[in-house]
Amino acid sequence: MSEPSHGVTLAAIQAARRRLEGQVARTPLVRSEALSRRFDADILLKLETCQPTGAFKLRGATNMIAALIERHGREALAAGVVTASTGNHGRAVAHAAARLGIPAVVCLSRLVPADKAEAVAALGAEVRRVGESQDAAFAEVERLVRERGMVLIPPFDDPLIAAGQGTIGLELLEDAPDLDRVLAGLSGGGLLGGIGAALKALRPEVTVTGVSLSRGAAMAESLAAGHPLAVEEETSLGDSLGGGIGLDNRCTFALVREVMDEHYRVSEAAIAAAMVDFLEHEKRLVEGAAAVGLAALAEHGIAVRGQTVALILSGNAVSLETFDRARALAGC
Ligand SMILES: *Cc1c(COP(=O)(O)O)cnc(C)c1O
Repeated sequence: MSEPSHGVTLAAIQAARRRLEGQVARTPLVRSEALSRRFDADILLKLETCQPTGAFKLRGATNMIAALIERHGREALAAGVVTASTGNHGRAVAHAAARLGIPAVVCLSRLVPADKAEAVAALGAEVRRVGESQDAAFAEVERLVRERGMVLIPPFDDPLIAAGQGTIGLELLEDAPDLDRVLAGLSGGGLLGGIGAALKALRPEVTVTGVSLSRGAAMAESLAAGHPLAVEEETSLGDSLGGGIGLDNRCTFALVREVMDEHYRVSEAAIAAAMVDFLEHEKRLVEGAAAVGLAALAEHGIAVRGQTVALILSGNAVSLETFDRARALAGC
């Protein structure tokens, strides 16, 4: 069989699994009694919130850095790795690089709040403050790659990143061999695409369901248009699902198009209600992006009766302020 153009094969995901062994958490899959009763189904929660950085992005970043060391030797990474991200990806790169003994630089605009920058620095990365916009931070990343020979670790659009996230799919099937459906947040597509690639290879009858924000969902708009599109960003409780997919997307657009069976969009009110539900009934604090699976079940009445369903609790980066906004929106 020929290699798919996106490069995210089962073999690539299995190789990622070996590289991640001992480097990232093999996270638990727990049954939610309350949600299983509510939806008359077996609702399982994949707790990526248990990763040391609080989100699954550690899988992709660790896989990419470890694979580059494996292929080209440590010397090739002597100048270090670099990225521009305030969120879960920036923390993931900082943590992964520190663990693997590689220097890391995270470029952030001067507008990024100090506490977010400090969180990245505390994980061992050098934080470089540049300009007044995300674009300025990206320009600095490009300069460091060009002039210093640093290696860019992108947040989603690389086969090594998506294969790293795909290790979640392998773990899901080990813990729930009779899985019928998985729901995960969809932004750049590394998470859903990686999981989908693993599931389609090993258990193609699983329904792979992506969930995006109702507004500013670049992947959803791009899939509808048939090519990558830029969309205007909006603030959302699910801020980790914001951002574009890159007009020159070379991996995840094709990957998501191939492996995703269904796609839903969820309102801010539904995300808010789901965040509150997780805290109140499950005693789990999750960020908006991690609550979209439950939001989709509730808002769209997806037919899951009698099914074994996994919800990917992708991260827990939520401030008290944001949680308060969710509470207010959920009316409690
Ligand atoms: C990045 C992220 C997502 C979306 O992942 P993509 O690979 O960009 O689709 C979902 N949830 C959380 C918590 C994230 O940090």
